[in-house]
Formats: sequence, C-alpha cells, structure tokens
Amino acid sequence: MNCSIGTDGERAAALIRGGGVVAFGTETVYGLGANAFDASAVARVFDVKARPRLDPLIVHVAERGDLERLTTHIPATAERLAEHFWPGPLTLVLQKSDDVPDLVTAGLPTVAVRVPDHQLARQLIVLAGVPIAAPSANRFGEVSPTTAAHVSQQLGDRIDYILDGGPCGVGVESTVLHLAGDHPLLLRPGGVTQEEIESVIGPVQRPVAAASDPSGPQMSPGLLSRHYAPRTPLRIIADLSDVPPEPCTGLLTLRPVTASERFAAVEVLSEQGDLREAAANFYAAVRRLDDRGLKRIMALPFPEEGLGRALNDRLRRAACAE
Ligand code: AMP
Ligand code: MG
Repeated sequence: MNCSIGTDGERAAALIRGGGVVAFGTETVYGLGANAFDASAVARVFDVKARPRLDPLIVHVAERGDLERLTTHIPATAERLAEHFWPGPLTLVLQKSDDVPDLVTAGLPTVAVRVPDHQLARQLIVLAGVPIAAPSANRFGEVSPTTAAHVSQQLGDRIDYILDGGPCGVGVESTVLHLAGDHPLLLRPGGVTQEEIESVIGPVQRPVAAASDPSGPQMSPGLLSRHYAPRTPLRIIADLSDVPPEPCTGLLTLRPVTASERFAAVEVLSEQGDLREAAANFYAAVRRLDDRGLKRIMALPFPEEGLGRALNDRLRRAACAE
C-alpha cells in the first residue's frame, strides 16, 4: 500500500526523528531523507533506493551555521559561495567531522552539504532538529522525480511519507563542488552554473575521467556513467537528418522542430529555448516519453553553456546504455 502524501511538516519531522524515511520536495528534485546522524535510518535510504553503498549522500541543512557540526574546516571559498548561492542548488564537499556516519559519505573523508531553496524542506529540517541525508527519491540509476506523484509511483510502498512541496522549480540536481583539496573541482554540473560559480571564486576544474572508476568509492555518484536513465533506449543525435526512418520513435528537444510529424511523440522543453524552463520540464518530459512504450527516444543536445551543461550531462548518462 502506498504511503500518504501531504504537507504536514510536523508529521514528516516526527517520522525523521523516529528513524523513518521521508520523501520531500526541494527546488532541484525530490529527496529521500533520513536523520543524517542515524546510521540505521540512512541504511534504509540505501535499501529503499537499491543504491550501492559506495555512493555518498548529500546532507541537507537549514542554514549555513549548521555546517559547524558536520565539518572540520570551512575554507574561505565555501564561505563566499554559501553567501552567494545558499539557499540554492549548490552542494559543497568539505572535510567531514566524526559526527557524520561513514555510511553517509561512503567511507570518504568528506561530506557533501547544501541548504535547499525550498521553504517546506527547510522547515522540515528545522522541525526534525537534525540534518537530513538525502539522495534523489528514485530507484538507483533511474529518472529523478520532480513531483510527489513521481515518487509515489516508484517508491510509495517502501517509504513512510511524502512531503508534497509541489513541482520542483529548478528541476535538475544540485551542482556538486569539491572544496576539500587544493583546487575547486566541479564534480557534477547542476542548478547553479559553472559561470555563476566562477564569477565568485574564479576558475574551477572538471575532474579527469579516471575519477569515475565505478569499482571504488565514488567522488561523486553523479559521475557513474549510466544514471538518470529511462527504460526506453535513448540516443543523442547531432541533428534531425541523423534520424533513421524508424517507427515508434520519440523526440526530446529544447525548442520546437519542423520535422515533428516524423515522430510518434515529441516533447518540446521550452517554446522560446529558455534553459531554465527546459530544466524545470526535463525529467517529467523524459518520464512521459518513457511511459509511451516507444522503441527509442532521440534527444537533441543542449547548448553547452549555463544550465545546458547540466542537461547535456544528464542526457549523456541517460544514453549510456546503448
Ligand atoms: P543524488 O542526490 O542521488 O543525485 O546523489 C547525491 C550526490 O551527492 C552525488 O551526485 C554526489 O555528487 C554527491 N556527493 C555526496 N557526498 C559526496 C562526497 N563526499 N564527495 C563527493 N560527492 C558527494
Ligand atoms: Mg540521483
């Protein structure tokens, strides 16, 4: 039987305090949360998602001051970025304190932290009185949820409550920035753009491909090559002339296209080609195409700038299985 969906922050917080697992809306995607200091509650999050324990979770806090108990050192770059982008879709990876269970960080000496830009999510953290460790509220590797209904369909029978925060405004996961080494490393492009980060702290580097070796603890789970994937095979095409004449093919595109009659279904993410609007619509559009029983989904790439980088990253991982 599926758990209830509602907006009762007190009820959700009591469940978290009692070791439960609660899905909650944020501005990025829905999270699957547990008390970050309770290793057995966090273990349930991994089990519900069927997530490998090599994949660390993001710890969600209500305000910057909550960092003190989670970390041993807060570099000046982290202070500046927090000031500019928190609350918001930027996750900072910092040296972890002993209070954070190893399970949360997959044994890494670092912890990933952010303050969500969502009133109900922050209220939940405050009422629970503990930081909330939460990955996205989907089965591991599959399409991320951006509404309470998406969570209910996939995990509703395995969790305690869904705190309905409405549709996610940003729609893609947070940017993950590693600040515990010599240079800032952008581990996962996301809702805060590389350009925005560089305007505050100067150039950031992208990790080398070797960092995504799936056999060891992940520097960032979003680095796994196959992730965010629909069941229907997805292929990225450079332009529409590349499309073979196959029936039952769907198209995912940023802007309207002229040849749309060649497809069984077309999802246009933004009539005006606006990347923010496209990000907000992205996962729901992938789900709609996935639910149509198509043979294949074709996707046109996004411009490699701003939020387009995060969207291209998700497309590449969704397409990897082919
Ligand atoms: P998810 O919320 O399911 O998309 O996954 C959580 C994200 O947390 C991953 O994509 C990682 O990038 C990130 N993450 C969590 N902890 C760490 C850490 N200690 N070091 C690097 N990345 C982390
Ligand atoms: Mg995820």
